[in-house]
Amino acid sequence: ERMIDGNLHDEDVSIEQSLRPLQLEDYIGQPKVKENLSIFIQAAKMREEPLDHVLLFGPPGLGKTTLASIIANEMGVQFRSTSGPAIERAGDLAAILSSLEPGDVLFIDEVHRLPRSVEEVLYPAMEDFFIDIVIGSGPSARSVRIDLPPFTLVGATTRSGLLSAPLRDRFGVLSRLEYYDVADLRQIVMRTADIFHMTISEDAAIEIARRSRGTPRIANRLLKRVRDISQVKGETEISFETTRQALKMLQVDDAGLDHIDHKLLTEIIEGFNGGPVGLDTIAATIGEESQTIEEVYEPYLLQLGFIQRTPRGRKVTPKAYEHFGIPMINGEE
Ligand code: ADP
Repeated sequence: ERMIDGNLHDEDVSIEQSLRPLQLEDYIGQPKVKENLSIFIQAAKMREEPLDHVLLFGPPGLGKTTLASIIANEMGVQFRSTSGPAIERAGDLAAILSSLEPGDVLFIDEVHRLPRSVEEVLYPAMEDFFIDIVIGSGPSARSVRIDLPPFTLVGATTRSGLLSAPLRDRFGVLSRLEYYDVADLRQIVMRTADIFHMTISEDAAIEIARRSRGTPRIANRLLKRVRDISQVKGETEISFETTRQALKMLQVDDAGLDHIDHKLLTEIIEGFNGGPVGLDTIAATIGEESQTIEEVYEPYLLQLGFIQRTPRGRKVTPKAYEHFGIPMINGEE
């Protein structure tokens, strides 16, 4: 497992629940998403109706589950949580939907991974709050209509493009979560430190923020590891020095990159004079799936401005050369 990927690791599980903010105003960053949701939530409450279905998309660890539970909390309803791959059959979905109370929030993580047959049951459920279930088989099979309480579906996915068009069209609110800036992550680190009764110096918090790849989950994970080392050293406050030392031990560099990012970038620099080089060629060179590179490694490198997508493939930018201290040899432009 990479120290700096946004997916949920075993070590995150024990702390995440206690770190989830409960109110929209305690949710740090993402101003556009918050402003939008706050208006929709207020309007729904005034009309005494459930909130429209919400699709949240963005890379893992950015706060989609957290936001879904905040929505339930702000609406004053129950939060029920499941995931696309966990719902295997239409009957599983029917059981969940018919157990909801009016207005409840049903959160489906990885909603793009719902089996097609389940997805089709979801359409009328989202649109008109009923499901048609086929009972029995063969000539005695019959379809039964079950009315559902009105509810809000909050779906989460990494990219909205992964959803089928009919499913995407049934969400009234589409919100894209962005990577967090250093100021927001610093605030998240300070908040986490506070919850766990740790003291951390301002510059140490900024250092963790800078190397967290714009992702709260990574920031919290790094903080936890840095804290361990600080404790072993007998510090009463997590210092900048210890933070730098700990991050070095964890092999997370100044820009939040690890050995895999290094390998990807240096292969393009050394093997292809910085590119452009096709995704499949890169994948073959470093022995990774193209899809993994595109969905897991690349987004943050693009965000940093270390690589560019061009029609002829990926190109490493001067900024990345500078990061590695490698002089640029001008190839063909
Ligand atoms: P996702 O569902 O997008 O993978 P989560 O909602 O599980 O991400 O968030 C991962 C962790 O980061 C959680 O512990 C959560 O409390 C924290 N977190 C995420 N976004 C924020 C935020 N805006 N403010 C404070 N903490 C956050």
